[in-house]
Amino acid sequence: MITYAYQYKIKPSAKQIKQFEQYLSICRSVYNFAHAERKAWIESHKCQVDRCSLNHEYIIPVNAPFPSYSIQAKALTEAQKKLPHLKLVNAQCLQQVLKRLDKAWTDFFRMPSRGFPKFRNANRFRSFKFPQLSTTCLDSGRVKLPSIGWIRIRQSRPYPIGFIPKQLQVVRKASGYYLVIYFESSETVPDAIPGKKSIGLDAGIESFVAPPTKLIKGPKFLKDKARKLKLLQRQLKNKTKGSNNWLKLQNKIARLHEKVANTRSDWHFKLAYQITKDVDNIFVENINFKSWSKGLFCKQSLDSGIGVFINTVLPYVAWKQGKFYIKVDKDGTSQECCKCHTHTGKKELGQRVHICSNPACLHTKPRDTCSAKVIQYRGELAVGCAEETSAHPTALAVGHIVKQNKTAQNACRGDATGIVQLSLFDLVGSR
Ligand SMILES: [Zn+2]
Repeated sequence: MITYAYQYKIKPSAKQIKQFEQYLSICRSVYNFAHAERKAWIESHKCQVDRCSLNHEYIIPVNAPFPSYSIQAKALTEAQKKLPHLKLVNAQCLQQVLKRLDKAWTDFFRMPSRGFPKFRNANRFRSFKFPQLSTTCLDSGRVKLPSIGWIRIRQSRPYPIGFIPKQLQVVRKASGYYLVIYFESSETVPDAIPGKKSIGLDAGIESFVAPPTKLIKGPKFLKDKARKLKLLQRQLKNKTKGSNNWLKLQNKIARLHEKVANTRSDWHFKLAYQITKDVDNIFVENINFKSWSKGLFCKQSLDSGIGVFINTVLPYVAWKQGKFYIKVDKDGTSQECCKCHTHTGKKELGQRVHICSNPACLHTKPRDTCSAKVIQYRGELAVGCAEETSAHPTALAVGHIVKQNKTAQNACRGDATGIVQLSLFDLVGSR
């Protein structure tokens, strides 16, 4: 199954804007109420040893079940009979809100580092979703929303042929309202198979990415706008909080941030298409970019969006172009010679040129492009494109790859070569 998410800008009338705001406000109140209900249940089931019952009282009966999604959805149906303002919003839309909250809670318990779900104010609740659509909801330049009606859009790209619109989301951004349409197709696409031409990419600090032949420098998207941003934020300090001028300025700042994000995304996609155009296999390192975003180079890493490029944009573009994409082990890529594959020892960050320590080789190359060649070699070795030669310690190179993924097994129940292959679902879902 293939899913595409297409985004279009909406051209709403004043009445429709009012309706969107009403939807957002009611959905937000349902979200916050359901969240408070869950929190109250947890609070009432806590037992604090240093509090007496005079200070801490059980409001909810001990045997009351936890307000899960099914219980809250049932309660919502009952509430709609009593509270007429809830009927102003599509019932499925409200159920989606409860699902969203449920997902936030499940995600927190599965991965506490994501943070405990928060109550949402008007700025933090900016979208609502219609989970079901009629098949005739799309027309040239307009879309029919359930219980709202036809709405004009700026059709920046044609609807995909052979796909059915499944879900629809209205998103409020600083620059206006947008419509995200989720298209689905039951067609299946076979996974790409390795070809002849390969490329290894080294994610670097000096360069954005480095193919084996050149360094691609990343534009500094936010840094270029930093001066303007600083000026606007300084002006904001002198305005009364909540006043009309304060709101106008806030919107201006948000628009600037949106522009930076759009420019970055546009550049990522253009670069990904350029890189994947002439090759069959794309090999990258399996780097944990989250740690990069917290370390010494957090500003550069977040400004360039290198993690999004390597983990999301590149695999998606590769899949769309029918190219083979895998991740190889990152360990020691800068310590290995790309020509003779000798381990040359650790390099300092300031050392940007690779000089081989093997007296028979003495190969000299920029550090990043050398690493890219090593990554390419490891990838080729993993998919069986590269030939093992007796001149280099193959065991070392393969050892690096195998070490990373010991649990994975190949068809013969032996250790897999350590490649981290994304499934098709991951690739499509990530867009
Ligand atoms: Zn060498």
